[in-house]
Amino acid sequence: MHLNIYNTLTRKKETFIPIHSKKIGIYICGPTVYDYAHMGHARSAVFFDTITRYLKTCGYKINMVRNFTDIDDKLMVKAQILGTDIKSLAQKFINEWHKDMQTLNTLKPDHEPLSSDYIVPIQNFINVLIKKKYAYQSKGNVYFSAGSFSGYGRLSGRTIIDPPSMEDNTSGKKHPADFALWRNSNKSEPGWKSLWGFGRPGWHIECSAMGMEILGKQFDIHAGGQDLIFPHHENEIAQSKALTGLMPARYWIHHGMVTVKGQKMSKSQQNFTSIKNLADLYSPQALRLFLLSKHYRNPLDFTPAKIEQSTAALKKIPRLLVQLEKLAAPLQQEDFTSSSYWQKFCQAMDDDFNTPAAIAVMFQLVRELNKFLEKAGKGSLLPGEKNTLQTGPIELLKMGRDILGVI
Ligand SMILES: [Zn+2]
Repeated sequence: MHLNIYNTLTRKKETFIPIHSKKIGIYICGPTVYDYAHMGHARSAVFFDTITRYLKTCGYKINMVRNFTDIDDKLMVKAQILGTDIKSLAQKFINEWHKDMQTLNTLKPDHEPLSSDYIVPIQNFINVLIKKKYAYQSKGNVYFSAGSFSGYGRLSGRTIIDPPSMEDNTSGKKHPADFALWRNSNKSEPGWKSLWGFGRPGWHIECSAMGMEILGKQFDIHAGGQDLIFPHHENEIAQSKALTGLMPARYWIHHGMVTVKGQKMSKSQQNFTSIKNLADLYSPQALRLFLLSKHYRNPLDFTPAKIEQSTAALKKIPRLLVQLEKLAAPLQQEDFTSSSYWQKFCQAMDDDFNTPAAIAVMFQLVRELNKFLEKAGKGSLLPGEKNTLQTGPIELLKMGRDILGVI
């Protein structure tokens, strides 16, 4: 069975073929560190953590990058309100992020670059784009000319529409679709010296430069939320392909949003619940089960009742495992990979990471193990059922603890 992934770029499920055989390079767009992380961030973190754990189980070696955006207007505004500098503000929320990720039991990415540490590669990147005439300077800013890149709009399905007039243009852009690679900063704003004056990079170029520096000109997976398809990832493709001639990533994976009563959960909507607060109310396992309970491409509506359901569903598993351990130790040597449950679990994960289907298989196994345990107590167990009792706990731990992280 092959792993099939829905690629936003081609709008279809494709068989996953890594560039370097068993080694996979993944770049996930990380948080802008100016506030506490919420359930929207948790969905991204837990989903990508789960697929990483699954890919590792399948024998792949993963090189995962998740950046921190520490240069952004939101940081500047918040730092000003709090009377601090953006560096200290970013560090505070990076520390908080790490605490939240530990709470959610996610594996640490291999690289966690900060935009502010990549100013030189970003500037070099921009310089080449100017030389190649994909970018231009205007009023102390540098813009990428979207119209100069023939494939612009392929990821998001948008086309560039010419405006009736650009006369009111104060930014210096030649076209509204053009986007900033470098923006000038005044003395009170954070900035770095450059060939184009004192300024700071635009958001899109930060991710492209960090991804390229760490994973190379082309890597396997570029990922993030669906809200990043446009403009962020569209612009990343334009500037990276303009620079290297290569599509920066082969597979583009985007997860749906966490919603509250149908509206996207976000800091700007003021409808978010922080991971920190939820961790006081629910177990990390229940939070993970809730986050994985919908297919990643669908929206996930946040309701406490659903997290409580997850809590209840997981409650009996630890007791079951203890009972099974008493019954049939040692279990570690058993080969379970040919078991029908494990096969079905992998089939679900191979089908574009269908975690709800994988979770359903795990609970089918739990039900069957409970049933056989009862039969064992009565001495009426059949030989095949005895085998399931032997291998069941290992399978259950592999699925629930090692991959889904819910046990
Ligand atoms: Zn990004």
